[in-house]
Formats: sequence, C-alpha cells, structure tokens
Amino acid sequence: MEHPRYITVEVPAKINLQLAVGPVREDGYHEVVTVYLAVSIVDRVRASTADAVTVEVVGPQADRVPADGSNLAVRAARLLAERAGVSYGARLWIDKRIPVAGGMAGGSADAAAALIACNHLWDLGLGKDELVEIGAELGSDVPFSLLGGAAVGTGRGERLRPLDAERVFTWVLVPADGGLATPAVYAECDRIREETGVVPAPPRADEDLIAALAKGDAHALGRALANDLEPAALRLNPSLARTLATGRELGALGGLVSGSGPTCVFLAEDSHHGAALSEAFTAAGHPAIHARGPVHGPVVIDDGRYPGDDRWFGSMALADSLGER
Ligand code: ATP
Repeated sequence: MEHPRYITVEVPAKINLQLAVGPVREDGYHEVVTVYLAVSIVDRVRASTADAVTVEVVGPQADRVPADGSNLAVRAARLLAERAGVSYGARLWIDKRIPVAGGMAGGSADAAAALIACNHLWDLGLGKDELVEIGAELGSDVPFSLLGGAAVGTGRGERLRPLDAERVFTWVLVPADGGLATPAVYAECDRIREETGVVPAPPRADEDLIAALAKGDAHALGRALANDLEPAALRLNPSLARTLATGRELGALGGLVSGSGPTCVFLAEDSHHGAALSEAFTAAGHPAIHARGPVHGPVVIDDGRYPGDDRWFGSMALADSLGER
C-alpha cells in the first residue's frame, strides 16, 4: 500500500469537572485527582511528509502559539521519532480553535494529534498504550487528550480511568482576555494555603459527581462541579469572579473555572438553555462558546487519499458529529 502524503487529525479540548489538588510531591508536581471531559471545541493538526519537523499555526490566536521547537506538537513529533528510532520529519500545520492558555489543554491536544498523525504518516504502527506512554512524558494532560470521552486522572492527571457518561451535556464556555500560566496558578494556590495554614489532604475523586455523570443527572452534576485551583485563578484574574456570578444569575446549573483557568465553564439544562445562556453571556459582554461533552477523542478526518474512499467519508461524518466549531 502506498504511504499517505499527509494526515489530518481533529482533536477536542478538555474541561475539568473536578480538580482536587493535594500536596506537592518530591518531584515538584502536585498530587491531583481530576475528572476530565472532552468537549466539542477542536483543533485540526495536519502532518505531511518533510525532511525535518516544522510547524505553522493558523487561526485568530496563531500569534499566541510558538511556531518553533517549543511548540508541543513539534516536541511530540520529535519525541515519537526518537522513541521509534526513526529520523523522519513532518511539516505540521495547526488550525488553532481551542482558547490558548485557557485551561482547556489546547497544547496537549495538539501534541496528542501530532502523535497520532505522525504514527500514521511514518507507518510506525504504535498502539494507543504506547502513544499514551510517550504522551505522559510531554505533559500531564496529553494522555487524556489521546483518549477523549470522560475519565478520572490521578497522579499528575496522567493515570486514567475511563468513566461512563449516560448522556452528552451542554456546556457554555466563557474564555477570558489573556491567559493564565498553569505553573503560576499552582504557585498561587500554594501561597494561599501557606497564608491560611491549610494543609492539603490526599485528593479524592468525588463519587457524587461520577454518579451524576453516569446517570446523566445534570442538576446533580452542576452542584458537584469543583476546582481547588479556583481561588488562585480568581486572585490572579479578579474579573473571573464577575463571570462566575453572571453564570449563577443567568441560571446555569453550575459553573467553575476550568483547570488552571481562565476559561469559565457553565453547565446548561439542555441545548435550548445552553443557547439562551450563551446569548445572555454575550449580551452581558462575555462572548461565550456553546459546546457539547463528552465527545470522542482525536480522529483522523483526512488521510490524504482521494475522497472516493469510504473511510474518508465515514470519518468526516464522525468529525461533523462533533458539532459546534
Ligand atoms: P492546560 O489546561 O493543559 O494547563 P492551557 O490550556 O492552559 O493548558 P495551552 O493552550 O495548552 O494552555 O498553552 C499553554 C502555553 O503553551 C501557551 O501559552 C503557549 O505558549 C504554549 N504552547 C506550546 N505549544 C502550543 C500549542 N500547540 N498550542 C497552544 N499553546 C502552545
């Protein structure tokens, strides 16, 4: 079979429905327990044959993403080549839609997509587990970005247990101006704990939240949303408190800062409620994105073969089922 000349992968963003932050470990990372959910906001990453690994980023936020060796997708492709013992290159192209530095793992998503695309492009034949192992070296969120759906993450967030979710929920995401750097938010969390004398307990998954997800109970899920990093994110970006209050006033079932922020996430009753919430947020001066989740993980949407190939149409239909973009 002829090798493809390019592969395009579509990869979703994540939100954290729970983020419990425990003590700092010996390696400097915090012990966390988190519930991840993949949502229908996607980046597209294309890899085409080339002598060296390079990247080009397009989209309205492209100037906020490095286009050199520090780009997580480039690091992923290079690490994959190293682990597989090959010296191939790839020209990477990223259509960036996931808010940058928004607590939605956009960089990790691109790394996951690059691993999948280059695995195909270079015909390496590595399995999901091997890609997950390489992904964990690149960042704590990369394994989940390879998996999609819903999962509990432990350790640094990289050890995953997939979760059942009875239904697809409607979410309203409110990105904030500027980003928050994840290490700065963790450092602020440590400072707050020091000031208040709080000694963090070992983090635990919230079984009520997991049950609500499994049963499809939006009201119970809304009540259970929780993020230990929220006070730190609010201190670094005080305008987020107003956004969270607006969500409560507009009747969201629950709301929180996603991950290290600053994107705020609100749960709607259904898609009509979600549309009304998004409109109300936008009218209140907080442009909002309407999304669904859980959605499946990364998918190859174009493998460079001509469109007469059934698989090509099949995967495009799957990509379209992701909805809002
Ligand atoms: P997380 O939720 O995993 O903590 P985040 O969503 O807050 O991450 P990212 O969008 O992943 O943040 O980006 C964080 C920083 O990483 C950016 O400011 C950018 O400089 C850098 N970066 C490197 N590669 C990428 C990439 N492919 N896409 C986005 N940012 C990237």
